[in-house]
Amino acid sequence: MAEIGTVGVVGAGTMGSGIAHVFARAGFRVLLCDVEQRFLDRAVGLIRTNLGREAAKGKLQEAEIEPALARIAPTLDREALGGAEFAIEAASERFDVKAEIFRALDRILPESAVLGTNTSSISITRLGAETRRPGQVIGMHFFNPVPVMALVEIVRGLATSDAAFAAVYALALR
Ligand code: NAD
Repeated sequence: MAEIGTVGVVGAGTMGSGIAHVFARAGFRVLLCDVEQRFLDRAVGLIRTNLGREAAKGKLQEAEIEPALARIAPTLDREALGGAEFAIEAASERFDVKAEIFRALDRILPESAVLGTNTSSISITRLGAETRRPGQVIGMHFFNPVPVMALVEIVRGLATSDAAFAAVYALALR
């Protein structure tokens, strides 16, 4: 797996916006994808507000807010995720929706990329089976509100490789 500098986040709702927030705050570039511009606008507004709250509490410097926001590129074009070394799906909790996204991510992202999902209840094994890289499909389950909750549950499917687990474990620590 290539060094991860850019992360794709699919779904900019409650969880996707929080996930984009924590990756950007940690210094990653983030490609944030949703199906309508208004969802992207809402997510960026929420991230701005929440970064401001963190600065008010002294958890980050005021001067870090704009650079963190600048690392987030909102997009309606899923093909843009081809520039990411890792992607996490945080779209609606429906198998058909996620399966379609995984098939697309499998086509779009580099072969070496690990594909994660924030699903709370859908089988990682089933989602992995939608792709040609089931060994590189994994659950990366954040908790709400993401910027506040340090816990990340890493969920292996039957086919998830040790290398994919190690890469996502290291990513969660970062
Ligand atoms: P949400 O409804 O707030 O956001 C989902 C977003 O996905 C919406 O903005 C929607 O437009 C977008 N979306 C739907 N189909 C899409 C597609 N094909 N491509 C791109 N974007 C698409 O949902 P949420 O609460 O953020 O939950 C997201 C995932 O995280 C779910 O799998 C859920 O089970 C899981 N989760 C939620 C929580 C929680 O407390 N909300 C906690 C842990 C995990």
